Amino acid sequence: MPTETVDTKVIGGGLSGIYAAYLLSQKNKPFIVLEARERIGGRILSPEHQEFFSDLGPSWYWPAIHPKMAHLIQTLGLKGYRQFEEGMGRFQGPDGAVQTVSGYAMEPLSWRLSGGMMALITKLCEDIPENAIRLNHPVCKIEKKIPGALVSVGELEKEPWTRFTTNKIILALPPRLAAATILFNPDLSHNLTQAMLKIDTWMAGQAKFCALYEEPFWRQTGLSGQAFSQCGPLGEIHDGSNNSQGPYGLTGFVGIPAVQRNHQQLLTEAILSQLEIIYGKPAAQPTTFFYQDWARERFTATRFDQPPVYEHPLYHPPAGQTSIWDGTIHFAGTETANQHGGYLEGALTAAERAVINHIMT
Ligand SMILES: Cc1cc2nc3c(=O)[nH]c(=O)nc-3n(C[C@H](O)[C@H](O)[C@H](O)COP(=O)(O)OP(=O)(O)OC[C@H]3O[C@@H](n4cnc5c(N)ncnc54)[C@H](O)[C@@H]3O)c2cc1C
Repeated sequence: MPTETVDTKVIGGGLSGIYAAYLLSQKNKPFIVLEARERIGGRILSPEHQEFFSDLGPSWYWPAIHPKMAHLIQTLGLKGYRQFEEGMGRFQGPDGAVQTVSGYAMEPLSWRLSGGMMALITKLCEDIPENAIRLNHPVCKIEKKIPGALVSVGELEKEPWTRFTTNKIILALPPRLAAATILFNPDLSHNLTQAMLKIDTWMAGQAKFCALYEEPFWRQTGLSGQAFSQCGPLGEIHDGSNNSQGPYGLTGFVGIPAVQRNHQQLLTEAILSQLEIIYGKPAAQPTTFFYQDWARERFTATRFDQPPVYEHPLYHPPAGQTSIWDGTIHFAGTETANQHGGYLEGALTAAERAVINHIMT
């Protein structure tokens, strides 16, 4: 079995891992990113239709409170646009009856990214050597060596596909996922393992639906596209359109708990008929739609993520530790950030910390 030696391994190619790789690249440090999926981006996923990218993961950033995101978007030459909120909202009660209500202005102002949130990942990758990112490389085991570590890629119950020896690791995935799916040798302490398992992976239990249309028919009747429903299946809906031209979209979060989302076809039909009830006949006939159930993604969610999380958790490094094994493994990933944890901003914050600490130790 091949064993490759590289100075630094970044495990996870979501925003945090890719941003860490971008920073290492800028400092001319050799590294390799190991990404389990066949794509990069992690919870960022923006499928394309008619040159418009619908965000099935994060769609908003808040320049007023997330300075690193605002700065990075500007540095990379990307363009943001305000979330469309003009007009009246709709409210659906528990009996399904719908009323028009005043719009609920998001505070602070929410912005979307032209090209979808994936544009951020694509642009960061322009400064990362192409062969430094290895897709379809799920890390299953990390063993401490003196010095450094041995990283095995593959499935735990089988022979590893490949192995890497490395001096340093930036572990850029949700701590809960790392504790539940990667074997560490020697064992992580009981305290640390429990702390990692208890950190909710933000939005991992959610599912999102994006419907696209030729015309913004809701806007034409004075509606903003924003709706809240107490009967579902969508619990919260927003305008999910392109900036100034089509396609136009309605985007919603599914309000049904993950364990009950078993029949995608039935759920889709129920969502389209709910959109028709709220916005009228054209809403039932999108030109296309996308659905993503994050709770079913094994490289995002574990079974601990299936129950709904109602409040944004207070995130911090697991058991207060930003690194382990004498600085061999540094935690990144938004759920390890001290500030803005769970958000894109937290993914950048944690990546910066990991890169700075990694270079200094
Ligand atoms: C539906 C939804 C809506 C959201 N909305 C917003 C929003 O509007 N604004 C906002 O700021 N945030 C939002 N978020 C949160 C945002 O998506 C996250 O903060 C951010 O994407 C986390 O990035 P990350 O790199 O820390 O983690 P991830 O994106 O989860 O990246 C982890 C990476 O590790 C990989 N991986 C997993 N296991 C292994 C392994 N064993 N070996 C190798 N690789 C592995 C994964 O495939 C993944 O690529 C939303 C999330 C979701 C799901």
